[in-house]
Amino acid sequence: MEARIFTVDKMQMKMEVVEELNRKGYIEEEIDPTLDLFEEIEKLKKQKNAVILAHYYQEPDIQDIADYIGDSLGLSQEAAKTDADVIVFAGVHFMAETAKILSPQKTVLLPDLKAGCSLADSCPPHLFKKFKEKYPDHVVITYVNCTAELKALSDIVCTSTNAVQIVESLPKDQGIIFGPDRNLGAWVAKKTGRDLVLWNGACMVHEIFSREKITKLKERHPNAKFIAHPECEESVLAMADYIGSTTGLLKYSINSDAQEFIVATESGIIHQMEKANPTKTFIPAPPSNSCACNDCPYMKRNTLEKLYLCLKNGLPEVDVPADIIVAARKPIERMLEISASLGL
Ligand code: SF4
Repeated sequence: MEARIFTVDKMQMKMEVVEELNRKGYIEEEIDPTLDLFEEIEKLKKQKNAVILAHYYQEPDIQDIADYIGDSLGLSQEAAKTDADVIVFAGVHFMAETAKILSPQKTVLLPDLKAGCSLADSCPPHLFKKFKEKYPDHVVITYVNCTAELKALSDIVCTSTNAVQIVESLPKDQGIIFGPDRNLGAWVAKKTGRDLVLWNGACMVHEIFSREKITKLKERHPNAKFIAHPECEESVLAMADYIGSTTGLLKYSINSDAQEFIVATESGIIHQMEKANPTKTFIPAPPSNSCACNDCPYMKRNTLEKLYLCLKNGLPEVDVPADIIVAARKPIERMLEISASLGL
C-alpha cells in the first residue's frame, strides 16, 4: 500500500516537473544566496562525473566555469570524445542534440530547454524535405545550426570553420543544396566559386548589424580591424578585414598586430578576446535597432543559477529519438572525419 502511494506521488511529481519544463524551460527553485555557485558546481561535477561544454556566446560566468569553451566544431569534437557520464551543454538546443547524437549513452543536460535558435527555426524539416525533393541528384550540406531532424535529412553537416573545405571536398560538377543559413551559403559559394542551391534561412543576431553605423564607427576608429562572422549579410561582410568562425575571429584577434577591433558577431566572444588580449580594445559592431547590444536572446537564457540547478536536479535533459540519432549521426561523423583529415 505504501509503495502504491509513493508511486502515485512520484508520478504526480514527474507530471508537474514535465509541465514546468514545458512551460518555463527549467525548474525554478530558490537558491541559498550565501552559496558560492562556482564551488557548488565544481562539487556537483565531481559527484556526477559531469563535464560542462560552453559556447563562446554564453555569459562570462558560464565561460569561466566551463571545462571546454568553443564554437560548434570544437564542441562537437569534445562531445564525441568525452568520457564523462553527464554532459551539461551551456549553449542552445541544437548543440545539446548534437552532443546526444554523438554520445547517445550519456545524459545530456541543457540549463534552459527554451534556449532555441532563430536560424534552426527558419528551416522546418517538413518544408526542407519537399525542397530537397526538387533536387534529387544534389548532395545536402547543412550547417550545424539546425535541428536533429534536419541533420537526419542531410548528407554532410558543416560548421562555419569547415564549410568551405567540406564543399571543396566534393567533385566540382556535384550539385549541392546548402542550408539553412543563406548568408553563410552565399559566402561559401563566393569563396569556392560553386553554384549552391540555398535555403532561405538566417540568424536574427547576425542579420541585425547596420552597415551605416559600422561605417561611422570605422571613421571614429580608423585603425580598428573590422572582423565578422559569415552569418552576417553580404553587404556587412563586404566591409570586413577578416571573415571567420568564432574560433577564427578569436585567433585573428590574437595574431593581428592591430590594437582595436570592431566585432560583428554575438557579443559573448568578446569575453575570450579580452582575456586573450588584455591590452587590446574590442568594440561590438552596432546593430540597426536602438539596442546597444548584440546578444543572442536564446544563448543568454542560460545563467549560472540555471546551470547549477540543472546539474543538481539532472534536469532538463535533452533526448533525441533513436531513429533520428542513427540518421543524423552519419552526416555529423562525415563532417568530423573530413575536419580531422584536414587538421581542422
Ligand atoms: S546567435 Fe543566431 S545562430 Fe547562434 S544560437 Fe543565436 S539565433 Fe541561433
